[in-house]
Amino acid sequence: MTYRAPINDMLLALNHGAGLAAAVKAGHYGDFDGDITAAVLEEAGKFASDVLAPLNTVGDDNGIKLADGKVTTAPGWPDAYQRWIAGGWNAVAGPEEFGGQGLPLAINAACVEIWSGANIAFGLCPLLTLSAIEALDAHGSAELKKIYLEKLVSGAWPGTMQLTEPQAGSDVGSLRSRAERADDGSYRISGTKIFITYGDHDMTDNIVHFVLARLPDAPAGTKGISLFLIPKFLVNADGSLGARNDIYCSGIEHKLGMHAAPTCTMTMGDHGGAVGYLIGEENRGMLCMFTMMNQARLAVGLEGVGIADRAYQGALAYAQERRQGRALGSKSQGMDPIIVHPDVKRMLLQMRAAAGAARSICYATAVALDVAARATDAKVKADAAARGALLTPIAKAFSTDIGNEAASLGVQIHGGMGFIEETGAAQHLRDARILPIYEGTNGIQAIDLVTRKLAANGGAAVWALLEELSGIVKRVEASNDPAFGTTGAKLRDALGALERTSRWLLERVSTAPNDALAGATPYLRMFGGTLGGCMLAGQALAARDAGDGFGDPARHVTLARFFAENVTVQAGALERTVMDGAEAVNGADAVLLG
Ligand SMILES: Cc1cc2nc3c(=O)[nH]c(=O)nc-3n(C[C@H](O)[C@H](O)[C@H](O)COP(=O)(O)OP(=O)(O)OC[C@H]3O[C@@H](n4cnc5c(N)ncnc54)[C@H](O)[C@@H]3O)c2cc1C
Repeated sequence: MTYRAPINDMLLALNHGAGLAAAVKAGHYGDFDGDITAAVLEEAGKFASDVLAPLNTVGDDNGIKLADGKVTTAPGWPDAYQRWIAGGWNAVAGPEEFGGQGLPLAINAACVEIWSGANIAFGLCPLLTLSAIEALDAHGSAELKKIYLEKLVSGAWPGTMQLTEPQAGSDVGSLRSRAERADDGSYRISGTKIFITYGDHDMTDNIVHFVLARLPDAPAGTKGISLFLIPKFLVNADGSLGARNDIYCSGIEHKLGMHAAPTCTMTMGDHGGAVGYLIGEENRGMLCMFTMMNQARLAVGLEGVGIADRAYQGALAYAQERRQGRALGSKSQGMDPIIVHPDVKRMLLQMRAAAGAARSICYATAVALDVAARATDAKVKADAAARGALLTPIAKAFSTDIGNEAASLGVQIHGGMGFIEETGAAQHLRDARILPIYEGTNGIQAIDLVTRKLAANGGAAVWALLEELSGIVKRVEASNDPAFGTTGAKLRDALGALERTSRWLLERVSTAPNDALAGATPYLRMFGGTLGGCMLAGQALAARDAGDGFGDPARHVTLARFFAENVTVQAGALERTVMDGAEAVNGADAVLLG
């Protein structure tokens, strides 16, 4: 079963759920022509179906090999990567000055979903390169940009992101890799990084590593971290490749999923130190890294959307083929396809609606980040930046949880065959499992949401969003469309619960921080379910107004209704979990350690 990008759903979510069409109309995207969006996504969908999707199982079966110091990817992968570069797919959102197409991040976000749906382990390589481009463009010196940006933008030299060390995972500030100043203005880096995605491979002739390390006189913690660019091969003045740099893959991990994406232990300094170049200022590396991580967090959320949709496509096809039992009152002779059974329909709807809600949240995050970067009006920019910052942890954590839940339902719909590798359903579940862990675990995202994003400016970004969502609910109610069922009421109740819980947490962040931390994850879930529900309803209204522009409008109303009545409705219970549950959590030591 191959992958088909759900172009109609993506365009609806992008233009209406996420507000791209309105932002273009308001002039925030300058002279960008919104009409090209559909054409870009169609072409991306073709590349994904024709080139990437057929390699998904090949990569899973063959995995990565490390022999004689060389890392080898699965058969067909280096060739596919060269086709990726030739097709210009790496350069979609890259800066035009360095050979990129300069398209909005929002369009690239939709593309990231497509690559992840087709072949998530392949898409992971350019995902990190894009973050590297962003960091170098924002913080790098003119000289470093001149040498490296064009190659990164085209994809000829992909980027890696190297934070993690054995003792430094979520707690990045405890990293120990060392950087010494050299006489020529460069640095010599030594240390060991673990779990480095695409740390080495055979798809390109050079790799550009973005590595966090500490100077000898650096203050402790995150305030003493600097970011360095370390090429695998040094680059000569004429742009040709020079000596091999002192950064090597010394091991690869054997993993639950993502078999085709190398996860490397990287060793620096066995031969005098890796030559590194400072990005930004000394000891200000976390600032640069945050630029990288915010991009990457949104992109990982989009991986969750992509895998959820891919799992849905496989499960839907299977449910139409597999025959077991009969529908109540069926007059057919033999057994019916399992899609006739209400419980199977429920699972399929759950997958489709949740993927749609997560998609809209991720795209809205991208539009906010775009407007923050492109708008000319200072207030519009600041409001959009606050919106983007608020939505980023929700986009990452909610969408990757949805990716896992959908992949698990995909296995369930396949019954026993779901547990057998040949259907591909199991691979989606194995591949999805890392998403809530890397790029900051979902627990860390929830803490970020409560302690930084909600708390910023007394909750101003949250109150502004709730007001907008309330406008959508009013429009649903005013539509008087019976097909919406109880959608309006469910959304209204959820908004009330979200507002009360936000106020409760805002107060606890300063007065009882452990209570706020205990409630962070259920709060993020509630936020995602309420936001996603409102966005699905808003875009269903837009689909109705557009007539048949996005496929049968009634389909979108049904999806919005299902989500509101099955997922958003949980907000009330989650409110109780946050407010009543903290005491048990914070008094749990006796249970856990007793
Ligand atoms: C396949 C794969 C690819 C990866 N790719 C990269 C890469 O390219 N570059 C890179 O630098 N890293 C990479 N990583 C590392 C990844 O980002 C880390 O695994 C992740 O940040 C979690 O760190 P940890 O594994 O040390 O877990 P820990 O930090 O030990 O966390 C364990 C658990 O404790 C929780 N926890 C920790 N601290 C807190 C806290 N303060 N409050 C509440 N809960 C807390 C976490 O949420 C988690 O549930 C990759 C990992 C894997 C497995």
